[in-house]
Amino acid sequence: MMYSTSLTPFHPSKKRNIEPGNKGEMAANNEMKSVSASGDQVKFEQEFGHKSLLQTDALYQYILDTGVYPREPEPMKELREVTAKHQWSMMATPADEAQFLNMLLKLVNAKNTMEIGVFTGYSLLATALALPDDGKILAIDTNREDYELGLPIMEKAGVAHKIQFKEGPALPILDQMIADEKNHGTFDFIFVDADKDSYTNYHKRLIDLVKVGGLIGYDNTLWNGSVAAPPDAPLNSYVRYYKDFVLEFNKAISFDPRIEICMLPVGDGITLCRRVI
Ligand code: SAM
Ligand code: CA
Repeated sequence: MMYSTSLTPFHPSKKRNIEPGNKGEMAANNEMKSVSASGDQVKFEQEFGHKSLLQTDALYQYILDTGVYPREPEPMKELREVTAKHQWSMMATPADEAQFLNMLLKLVNAKNTMEIGVFTGYSLLATALALPDDGKILAIDTNREDYELGLPIMEKAGVAHKIQFKEGPALPILDQMIADEKNHGTFDFIFVDADKDSYTNYHKRLIDLVKVGGLIGYDNTLWNGSVAAPPDAPLNSYVRYYKDFVLEFNKAISFDPRIEICMLPVGDGITLCRRVI
């Protein structure tokens, strides 16, 4: 049974989040499902197959080819292709998840948004394209160079004016914002896709910055399927390193009375949190 993927381990020079692709995640998920299945679930699966629709890589490809790529806006396609040449391309948000974010932002009429973890900007561009012309995105990342790879494409798409990029670690930037009461309860949507060991600390701050009724989306909360792996499962070093942080975060928010949550098996798992108080 495999829980590891063939992705490159830690970057030699700096700590970065290396994100598993969907293929590895799906394979791991499917294996885990059959391992954890018991009693009624086994009978159900023998008769009808897995409850999850995504049983195969071919089915995921079908979604991309049928519902995502034919409708992918030209600038997003261009950015996806540019990003594919980057040595850390596997960190980018998958196209189907970006499409989901784009629609979600339109559904909630988001105007004032934040993104923590930009990389070359694929999810940022999906957000920028969804917002009205006077919409705003505060985009935070420690690495300006990667953001600047995608910036010309966002400029060409006519959405760069919505983006304010802040370079640096997100926690002190959030602390600065929290210090000013005016920022409290002002964000309609916040997408968190950076260092997984900080998610719990991000949540402590973001819950004050998002408005009541607003959404925070935490990415990679299924962490390559490892969140449901047995303790002795063979995991890649990077998956293993962050696994306990993701588990701790998932547990903490599942009991947080200030939010409603929805864990979606899109991409590597995205947990939507709607602030209710
Ligand atoms: N959302 C991006 C996309 O769609 O391409 C992918 C983001 S990538 C998974 C994670 C990013 O988080 C990296 O660009 C990394 O530089 C950034 N990052 C890591 N730690 C950070 C921190 N403490 N503060 C801000 N950004 C951080
Ligand atoms: Ca991600």
